Amino acid sequence: MKTPHKDTDSSSIQSKIENISKELNKELGNTSNSEAISNLKNKYLGRKGSIQSVLKLLPDIEIDDRKKYGKVLNELKTNAENLFENKQKEINKNSKNNSKKNNADLSLPGYPVKFANSHPLTQIKDKIISIFESLGFQIALGPEIETDYYNFEALNIPKDHPARDLQDTFYIKNEFNTYGNNLKVLLRTHTSPVQVRIMEKVKPPIRIIVPGRVYRNEAVDSTHSAVFHQIEGLAVDANVTFADLKATLECFAKRFFGETISVRFRPSYFPFTEPSAEMDIGCVFCSGKGCSICKKSGWLEALGCGMVNPRVFDYVKFDREKYTGFAFGIGIERLAMLKFKVNDMRLFYENDLRFLRQF
Ligand SMILES: [Zn+2]
Repeated sequence: MKTPHKDTDSSSIQSKIENISKELNKELGNTSNSEAISNLKNKYLGRKGSIQSVLKLLPDIEIDDRKKYGKVLNELKTNAENLFENKQKEINKNSKNNSKKNNADLSLPGYPVKFANSHPLTQIKDKIISIFESLGFQIALGPEIETDYYNFEALNIPKDHPARDLQDTFYIKNEFNTYGNNLKVLLRTHTSPVQVRIMEKVKPPIRIIVPGRVYRNEAVDSTHSAVFHQIEGLAVDANVTFADLKATLECFAKRFFGETISVRFRPSYFPFTEPSAEMDIGCVFCSGKGCSICKKSGWLEALGCGMVNPRVFDYVKFDREKYTGFAFGIGIERLAMLKFKVNDMRLFYENDLRFLRQF
């Protein structure tokens, strides 16, 4: 019977196996490339590796222990082989991903960047403004909460006029108390009150356009809205005639719709102009041939205009013998609908990107 010595006693073999297993797991965890794995493989599984060196001790121990540890060492060997294989797979996978990241194809087209656009109503407003600016008109602005005086009275809109009715106008409950006068206030129903406000401050010659938001107590449908946009125009000087009005608006129509557009003026009525007219343009949908939109007439209403009523001059103390002027009011939504051939005004307010991206 062999005498067990220090290296071959079974408990020392047990602790050697435990150490190998512990060290292997630790070293493998710190490994990140194939070369290091191959070195480790050699260190543990090679002919002179640590597992082999323990196997060499087995012949010196008791037969029962020899069987037991032989089995344990074989399992350790198989386990180690699996661990190396898995680690190698993991490293291969990572290096594949990294090479994908690093080798991006810079010649591929990029993702398109979508630029925002102005709202179609803003585009139309800007276009109208730029045409009139080129004709010498300046921009003027006024308040959206207006007094009854500027919105109606000074524009010669009499007390019993239907426009003043609650059905048409949003009145504001609180009244302004200015110098002891209670002023009836409302949301302006048109941009025309700015005419009066400017004429109170500026002496002729005057040439202004007034873009802005206006309010009417209207049910919303395809051609009406409770809030919409207008551009008011006013020109006052000595010797301004209806010919100036016609020439200015005809020039505007040609620049806005194109040189081939036809224009006609029809008599109309507004309290603050005399005479008053509607300007029609040849139907943009059927080119004047007659269709359901122009009700077979070949014409579409574009804007209202007229010579400034001398009674308005009286309110602002202009000499009605010396000065004459013309005024016009353009509905921005109306012109946008005609220009873009949109048949429902509500589309402009719904902010549906599928609609807005077309402009
Ligand atoms: Zn038509």
